[in-house]
Amino acid sequence: MKTLAERLAASQFSELEPYQSARRIGGSGQVYLNANELPFGAYSMPPNETWQRYPDFLPADLSKRYASYAGVDPAKVLAVRGADEGIDLLIRSFCEPQKDSIRIQTPTYSMYEFIASAHQIKTNRIPLTENYELALDKNLKPVEHLKLVFICNPNNPTGNLLSTQGILTIADAYKDTALVIVDEAYSEFCPQGSLADNLTSYPNLVILRTLSKAFGLAAVRLGFVMADQSVLSILNTLIAPYPIPDPCARIGLEALSTEGLAYMKEQRVKIIDLRNHYMTEIDAISAVESIYPSVANFFLVKFRDSQWAFEQLQAQGIILRDQNNIQSLENHLRISVGSESEMSQLLKLLQQWG
Ligand SMILES: *Cc1c(COP(=O)(O)O)cnc(C)c1O
Repeated sequence: MKTLAERLAASQFSELEPYQSARRIGGSGQVYLNANELPFGAYSMPPNETWQRYPDFLPADLSKRYASYAGVDPAKVLAVRGADEGIDLLIRSFCEPQKDSIRIQTPTYSMYEFIASAHQIKTNRIPLTENYELALDKNLKPVEHLKLVFICNPNNPTGNLLSTQGILTIADAYKDTALVIVDEAYSEFCPQGSLADNLTSYPNLVILRTLSKAFGLAAVRLGFVMADQSVLSILNTLIAPYPIPDPCARIGLEALSTEGLAYMKEQRVKIIDLRNHYMTEIDAISAVESIYPSVANFFLVKFRDSQWAFEQLQAQGIILRDQNNIQSLENHLRISVGSESEMSQLLKLLQQWG
């Protein structure tokens, strides 16, 4: 019998054989003449590196170390070039252009809809409630050809955590018809909200993670898709031949070492303290209408006149994320938690203008 993932896979790929790269075919020996690589070292290559060779097809040690950090079976972890590649792979693997649809909870991370549109896949938008909670009733209503339900948790840009029970109710409702993808890009800032423990009981649950945020490795482009093996094996059909560059895999391994994890946890405490302190201070400013609770390393602020505030700050070299273009977020700006000195500069300017 076909698995759910096999049934959901986009039919245009049903006959597609994964590209058989030299590393994917594998084979071990001492003389490798199978990948048209240069046998000499590259210019400025450090000792102990082998840049002239293609990397592993999928760096198993990296997935294993991430699995152990996340408390998940290593067979359920796939390393990708940032969570964004995970989103792209999921949409391309499961959705058919001009036929299938994805669902998102608005306002949310704009990449889901962007990638869907780029592939001519429709997006069904369900607004979060007034308190930015999941609209459960609306989420339980099926739409035609719905393949993927995206839930960003904690949600970007609102900064709040959604109800675990709500997400599991949705996963259960779609257990035979769609995948429920929980984007946990900010999970480190509130680990208690993660759904990683539910992967085994909910085979249609997919979790996205990244090293770009709490681990401070945005430039290195490392993310993870955590899901049932049947889902990962579909993604492995379309995945790039050598997705993860060797130096990046090594940087990721370091970040996930015992010392690396301890370092991340120290930075996390600092960011959370800064966030709490500066949210209180900014809330007291009269140009600010309201500020939303946050469990992440950013917070959403409603200004009386956000365009004015945005431009004044920009003129002083401080760049916030304007959310005005989003329907329900008129006069809202999103503020990432920066260093003490960056945050105090921001606060001083805001106080100066009242
Ligand atoms: C930043 C962000 C991402 C992208 O992560 P990368 O690993 O850098 O691609 C994905 N999802 C959300 C919600 C984000 O905020």
